[in-house]
Amino acid sequence: MFDAVIIGGGPAGASCALWLKMLGFRPCLIERRSALGGLQNDNPYPNEWIASVMGKTGYEVAHDLDAHLTSHSIVCRRGEAVASLEVVAGGFRVTTENGALILARTAVLASGVRPVKGGLSASEQVLIGPGRTMFNAAFEGQHVAILGGGDNAFENYIFVRKRGATTVHIYARTIRARREFLEKVPASDVRLGPYAVEPETPAVADRAYDRLVVLYGWEPYLPYARDLELARTPRGFVETDAACQTSIPNLYAIGELAQRMHPCCVTSMADGIVAAKAIQRTLEEDAVARFVDRVRGAVTAP
Ligand SMILES: Cc1cc2nc3c(=O)[nH]c(=O)nc-3n(C[C@H](O)[C@H](O)[C@H](O)COP(=O)(O)OP(=O)(O)OC[C@H]3O[C@@H](n4cnc5c(N)ncnc54)[C@H](O)[C@@H]3O)c2cc1C
Repeated sequence: MFDAVIIGGGPAGASCALWLKMLGFRPCLIERRSALGGLQNDNPYPNEWIASVMGKTGYEVAHDLDAHLTSHSIVCRRGEAVASLEVVAGGFRVTTENGALILARTAVLASGVRPVKGGLSASEQVLIGPGRTMFNAAFEGQHVAILGGGDNAFENYIFVRKRGATTVHIYARTIRARREFLEKVPASDVRLGPYAVEPETPAVADRAYDRLVVLYGWEPYLPYARDLELARTPRGFVETDAACQTSIPNLYAIGELAQRMHPCCVTSMADGIVAAKAIQRTLEEDAVARFVDRVRGAVTAP
């Protein structure tokens, strides 16, 4: 029986496991990929957004997270996806896709998000989501349509242009990108309003392109919890209180899965700490009460 089972070894889950271990508990972290670090494994670009980390790419941030947990001998089951999570007497039972059973007194959902596909399938012509796939694709001399109106769409317009694309058009139903990016994209390359996509051609609004880049944002990813009656937001993210506690006692949700105000590495890691401290309070409640009894007994003893 572990003190906590943590599902997902991205920044949120890794931080939670580290804090629990440092606080004297026995966490078990389960990660589907072969390495910890979550979405940072898909980020080939410099990650300058962590105040204490300089000059590292997302790949390096992911590598450091993995190495840090290894250095503390934290139980990490890498390369194992969680298939189901159930509430059982005294805690939770996790079953992995290769049949392993893990029992724990508390559980933490940290399985993050995945790109919204909008009914499209990834292919050589249709790239879905930012990061590694975009980075590895050739755009020189191509006609490219970017679908989406957020930061990722506008930032990747600039990226695809720099990679030598001949035409880049953004198709957006609404625009939500920040000013820094808006200032770098000519309005003439943006098509605002509804549009139809033909992925096989591929074409958008009856115009043919070499490549479509789908950047529709993110959706929560927790298929293993479909049988739990978890309170969710209208978009499916897990609802929690300020201590990252879900609607199910002793079950916590952290990081992008819980859709914080601004999802990033640092806010996800901070969530991991908040959950670890909440778990500490829960698991140590009895210990504190017993110690207080001992103190009282010692004072009243003759
Ligand atoms: C291209 C790109 C660039 C980015 N750049 C930055 C940046 O510069 N700075 C910054 O702060 N943020 C950046 N981000 C965002 C940042 O990576 C995320 O906010 C952060 O990783 C979220 O952490 P998380 O732990 O909540 O989720 P994730 O990182 O998504 O981690 C979730 C983990 O859960 C695992 N998992 C999922 N399902 C299961 C299952 N069933 N069983 C076991 N494991 C499972 C996944 O494999 C994954 O490793 C970037 C993201 C991308 C995609």
